Amino acid sequence: MESAISETHQMVESTPNKINQISAEITSTIKSMNITDLYNFRESLKKDREAEREEYSTLMKAQYLLRDEDIEKTRLQLEEAKRAMENAKRLANSVDSAYYGITDTFFNQLTLQVGDFVLARPDMNDLFPLLPAKVIEIDGDNSRYRVQIFETGIINSLTAQDVAIPRVTLCERFVEKTESGSGNDDRMCKYRGAAAFVGLRVAALVKTSTSDKEEWMSGTVAAMPTAIHNNQFLVFFDADFDSYVNAPCYFEHPDVFKLFQYKFGEMILDRFKEKLTIQKIVPMVSQSSYDDGSGVDRFNVHALLRFNPFRAKFLKLYFERYPNYQLARFSKPGPNRPPDVTQYYQGGSKHEGFVIYVDRSMCVIRRKEGPYSPGIKCFDYPCRDVSHQHNDESLFRGSTRIAHINMLGDNNLSSRRKHEVYRRMEYIEPTVDIHSLTENRTQRKSTYLPTDKSRRPTSKKQDNAAELERKKKCENIYKVQHRLVDPQPIPSPHVGQCTNACLRGLDSDTYDKRWVYDSEGKFLCYSPLYIPLLCGYQRKIYTFGSVKVNRRTRSVKRSNVVMYHAPCGRPLRSMQDVTQFLKATHSELTIDLFNFDPTVDPGAYVTVDKKYYVGMDFTKDHEHIPIPYVNSVDKGKHPAVCCFLKNISID
Ligand SMILES: [Zn+2]
Ligand SMILES: [Zn+2]
Repeated sequence: MESAISETHQMVESTPNKINQISAEITSTIKSMNITDLYNFRESLKKDREAEREEYSTLMKAQYLLRDEDIEKTRLQLEEAKRAMENAKRLANSVDSAYYGITDTFFNQLTLQVGDFVLARPDMNDLFPLLPAKVIEIDGDNSRYRVQIFETGIINSLTAQDVAIPRVTLCERFVEKTESGSGNDDRMCKYRGAAAFVGLRVAALVKTSTSDKEEWMSGTVAAMPTAIHNNQFLVFFDADFDSYVNAPCYFEHPDVFKLFQYKFGEMILDRFKEKLTIQKIVPMVSQSSYDDGSGVDRFNVHALLRFNPFRAKFLKLYFERYPNYQLARFSKPGPNRPPDVTQYYQGGSKHEGFVIYVDRSMCVIRRKEGPYSPGIKCFDYPCRDVSHQHNDESLFRGSTRIAHINMLGDNNLSSRRKHEVYRRMEYIEPTVDIHSLTENRTQRKSTYLPTDKSRRPTSKKQDNAAELERKKKCENIYKVQHRLVDPQPIPSPHVGQCTNACLRGLDSDTYDKRWVYDSEGKFLCYSPLYIPLLCGYQRKIYTFGSVKVNRRTRSVKRSNVVMYHAPCGRPLRSMQDVTQFLKATHSELTIDLFNFDPTVDPGAYVTVDKKYYVGMDFTKDHEHIPIPYVNSVDKGKHPAVCCFLKNISID
């Protein structure tokens, strides 16, 4: 250390001497050189400088490149953070963020061995229940199995579609809970991972309508067992019914540990039967899977149904739309809430029924019986009165046997009617991608998109003369016609319960095109609020004077009140009255055709001179009638307007 310091000290002391020495050398060199040499020396110095400068500039450039890289890196980091935030938001929004993923080994496990205890049908028919059995013999190419049913001792030759394999339980390692599906952004892959169980062919222990005890029926898993389904499997059974099955499939399930104990030790018949009562759901040997074994191919699972083509058609439709498949929205009836009424198909014909129970995506519909059937006004579920004759059926809320689900496939519906039908729907699984499936219940809205800012008034102080001119133009550009309803005597009010007869046969479907065009296709210009007046209703405005008189002006405070009179004379004073009347009479009119605002004139019809039209229809044929753009002020074109008939939410 000290030596280093002394060395430095010596160097510092010797520096002035060195400088003196160098300057002396330079002076002597200059003295000894002639002018040409000096010139050459200067030129060489100049060249050195330039080379140095060039080197420096390339260095600087390199530095800039480095900076671009840095920016790119930061940008990527930012994007990553943004993505992470969005993911977190999505997970927080979903009800149950965990998905179930099937690992590759699952399908490899679905192979039978001789001596395996299985579930098998007594015959090759999808509609038969499966029974405990034992594999006796397997064809070389795994196409046929000789299986002995324990109960009967009969040996059958069956295919993979008739055998379920209880050795494979749905709670083992190859079915894993994952954080977010397969983690792939590709839509298909995400759904593959997210809906691992969806489309799986299974046999499940379930109560059927034909038998008192539970039986093993074959079916297809329709939804993933998430919180939305109370962690249970929704299974579409091949025998034309749907049901929830509570099976141990996730590690928190109380029966998983019990089931685990059966993994060890020799399997004997009694133990096997015990295990089955806990397992409740067993994969079939035959599955619809992707070729690479990466998941269940739900889009082709319908091909595995052999005996019920209508069921196969429904499965195809369902899995094509899943998880966007629509369910009918019914409300749970309560003490103060009468059950929803719906139309549905039973035994090939259409019936009216009451929705007496709603459970997740299932509902129970009680058929409406004739007036003399016992228990016609009973909506208890389950009903304990033995004398009642109820025809109850548990239906999937997305079943095509429910009339307005069936209606979705009808392309002849008017857009307004379709809109109405869709409003009564919800989705089977809103957890999968909350952003694409968010349900909006806001009103129909038109969005105004200003395209040309120059057309807006730039200053509040406008030229007075121009303002006057503008006002002039705005005046009298439209005419209001008042369609007068012939004053008719109001029938004496109907006392008692109103029925369908109260409509006097004047009721009409409001979606009927004749309210818009007459038989010659001529536009009739009816306001929707005018339709009730054409159906026998009368809308009266009554003026009431206040009891208190203003002392100073001696005027009486008056208020106008609207009252409708139904065709039978029943006064309807409020929206609530209207709702009750329409319900009691099963009218096809809707409450949005009634208005209790005294300043509204349902008979008014506005006409505008066609020379002011700047566009014929801003709805672009979305509405029944064209709604033109009108500009009587200047020669400006119409702004860009988007018209959505779907519900959209605008924050
Ligand atoms: Zn009853
Ligand atoms: Zn009545």
